[in-house]
Amino acid sequence: MNFEFSPEDEAFRAEVREFIRANLPAEIACDARRWFNPKVDNYRRWQGILAARGWGAPHWPPEYGGTDWSAIRRHIFMEEIYKADAPDFFWQGTHMLAPVLIAFGSADQKSRFLPKILNGEESWCQGFSEPGAGSDLATLRTAAKLEGDHYIINGQKIWTSDARESDWGFFLVRTDPTVKPQRGLSFIVARMDTPGIRIRPIRTIDGREELNEVFFDNVRVPQAQLVGEPGMGWTYAKYLLDKERTASAFLYFNKRHLQKAKALASEQFAGGVRLIDTPAFSRKVARVEADLLALEWSVLRILAQEKNKYDLNAVVSALKIRGSEMQQRVTELQIDALGPLALRHFERRDATIDDPTWMPGWPELAIGASSLFLFERAATIYGGAREVQKNIIAKLAIGS
Ligand SMILES: Cc1cc2nc3c(=O)[nH]c(=O)nc-3n(C[C@H](O)[C@H](O)[C@H](O)COP(=O)(O)OP(=O)(O)OC[C@H]3O[C@@H](n4cnc5c(N)ncnc54)[C@H](O)[C@@H]3O)c2cc1C
Repeated sequence: MNFEFSPEDEAFRAEVREFIRANLPAEIACDARRWFNPKVDNYRRWQGILAARGWGAPHWPPEYGGTDWSAIRRHIFMEEIYKADAPDFFWQGTHMLAPVLIAFGSADQKSRFLPKILNGEESWCQGFSEPGAGSDLATLRTAAKLEGDHYIINGQKIWTSDARESDWGFFLVRTDPTVKPQRGLSFIVARMDTPGIRIRPIRTIDGREELNEVFFDNVRVPQAQLVGEPGMGWTYAKYLLDKERTASAFLYFNKRHLQKAKALASEQFAGGVRLIDTPAFSRKVARVEADLLALEWSVLRILAQEKNKYDLNAVVSALKIRGSEMQQRVTELQIDALGPLALRHFERRDATIDDPTWMPGWPELAIGASSLFLFERAATIYGGAREVQKNIIAKLAIGS
């Protein structure tokens, strides 16, 4: 297999790089670099900039505003996005909900929601998990009962990322308690300011409040906001989780953050020697680098096979395991490089690009590193816990 990029692909890379250079506002790049301070407004703005160029959702079909890029071009695009410290897409809308709407939504739902997802005007959160239903989503209990032309929703979601900053949410709810658990679920969208929805933030170890509990108390949602057929929520949720097969490797994140770890280790000294040049640290870097290269080749192998009909579910679970462990390793490497400097990170969440009082004399890349390291302890949980992925591999690949 040949993984050389063609001259046309390299020209495409240059075009993307130049576009980002010319259009990415410095303050947005700065916030993205300092993960510490991600702002939904930045995502909105950047999503709008990408959409104006026709690149707001490259993976969508062109008739909805996507591109006809090959998987390799999408790969190149994402590499350049992360290299430049540009924010990723407004993911819950562009990558999770939109493919479901495109495949199963009504014409009204598509015309109402897709354009505003594409240009970043409306933000979305995903409400699947519940206190008693995470890995085993089929047991979820939030109930939606049809009364006239409205569903009345009661129940609770948890771990809902960005719920407070979102205009809308898409939810899995139980519309039929009498059938097999998976058959009784439906997929519904609701504005987050609908009366009866209450959001309570959860403070996490990284010092942020991105996660939330979402409570539903007799929330009235028009029947027209149910996506597709009632009882098909499980199928749509699986379709959604299946859509971006290689994203679970977090390849671009991992490459960028390994690069940052190396940059940090080049600025720190141990016994008068640059940390990166010490045998102990360079050995650690080499090990992570080799494993990341292997992960990258696995991703490229899948991308190169995109037109084949292989059942890749076990491979995708393997990518999730390796990719999430790698997220933990590259962020840990940054902390190793920072040493005692890593200890201070929670104060000044309002820090801005021009703020000279922000940790004077510190390497800029240090900002946010500890917070990110702590957040990524959850990488082996969100998007499907590691043990569950191992079960999938055992079942599909080994047949046990
Ligand atoms: C940072 C973060 C962001 C999140 N964002 C969202 C979001 O936006 N929307 C949303 O809906 N959810 C979100 N989640 C929830 C996430 O999807 C769940 O945490 C995840 O699916 C695991 O479910 P759980 O927390 O209920 O743990 P459980 O399913 O209770 O698992 C607990 C432990 O038991 C293990 N386990 C479970 N079942 C098995 C099994 N069959 N065999 C072996 N071991 C098993 C798990 O691996 C885990 O270690 C987020 C979670 C995190 C941490």
